[in-house]
Amino acid sequence: MDRPIIDHRGPEFSQLGKDVLDGCRAIFQTSDSVLVFPGSGTGAWEACIVNTLSPGDKVLAFETGHFATLWQAMGRRWGLDVEFVPGDWRHGVDPVQVEARLVEDRMHAIRAVMVVHNETSTGVTSRIPEIRKAMNDARHPALLMVDAVSSLGSSEYKHAEWGVDVTVTGSQKGLMLPPGLGFNAVSKKAIAASKSSRTPRSYWDWQEMLKANASGFFPYTPATNLLYGLREAIAMLLEEGLQTVFARHRRHGEATRAAVRHWGLDLLSLDPREYSNSLTAVVMPQGHDADHFREIALNKYDISLGSGLGKVKGNVFRIGHLGDFNDLMLIGSLAGVEMGLRAAGVPHNAGGVQAAMDSLSNETVPATATQGIAVQSAS
Ligand SMILES: *Cc1c(COP(=O)(O)O)cnc(C)c1O
Repeated sequence: MDRPIIDHRGPEFSQLGKDVLDGCRAIFQTSDSVLVFPGSGTGAWEACIVNTLSPGDKVLAFETGHFATLWQAMGRRWGLDVEFVPGDWRHGVDPVQVEARLVEDRMHAIRAVMVVHNETSTGVTSRIPEIRKAMNDARHPALLMVDAVSSLGSSEYKHAEWGVDVTVTGSQKGLMLPPGLGFNAVSKKAIAASKSSRTPRSYWDWQEMLKANASGFFPYTPATNLLYGLREAIAMLLEEGLQTVFARHRRHGEATRAAVRHWGLDLLSLDPREYSNSLTAVVMPQGHDADHFREIALNKYDISLGSGLGKVKGNVFRIGHLGDFNDLMLIGSLAGVEMGLRAAGVPHNAGGVQAAMDSLSNETVPATATQGIAVQSAS
């Protein structure tokens, strides 16, 4: 990314634009258009809402955690009539509940179902294919909108095959880039909805973006240097192979959970079908403050653990294991957690790191995958 900026109206840029827009389709696993905005994930949430919906539209959302809560709150500010199904922050979206609610909606008042795929606040991954099936079984025409900010490029994600209408993501998680890009992958049905949406919009307007993108350009100054990085990030993911990337994250998720279990601590996520492979949220034992422990771990070992967000503040801490990450980085991170637990006087069984090493060693990894990771960490 540390290169001179090129003219974003010139021929060299047009090639860069086409390369990244095409490459994004491979990562989202779709032939639909992917739009790339200068902005954060939150901006991409807004782009999704303002392009497809109108004030007063009814949408169905689920309280899976902090990010789901923020997204539906944004929808309310845009005048949407949000039905927010309460949740315990330890489970994903229940497909049975989706189907039941949609079957009840005989007049098809619900225009969209909003789901956070991987809840970064809780380490819970909702099962999008089952949610899509529930919508199909209910024969309901609502749009399916999915926040894949912390899953795309880390966990299996198939925008097209899963029948998602809008997929939202950002640059700084599984795509391994600095913050600054927001993405919408948009189905034909979503584009059709954008033609009748009455929400005022300008910066986030899909039509303006799609028009310019057709020739590899953008309607305003793009984040050119981030696009250099995006081109390389896409190349890295495809070089390692998406399935190998997902398997690497799965191994790291399993090894982290093995360590947590050995420590005798609880995972926030309760359903093994929904364990996140991007991050693990760990419940603190009664009487111990997660933020106090995080501060000690940061000061003593320079490890920055995720805080509990929103409702679970002080009760959980989060171990991230996504993106440009390998076995040794995971073991180092888990050692930092274990030493931090000891330093903070949090009751636990020593030896969680060994349990994680056993978990990593037990799995047979194809040689190419191991080599791929070695090459990445050396570069
Ligand atoms: C990080 C994150 C966001 C917010 O993205 P920003 O880039 O911080 O605006 C939204 N949803 C999820 C699931 C996230 O992890």
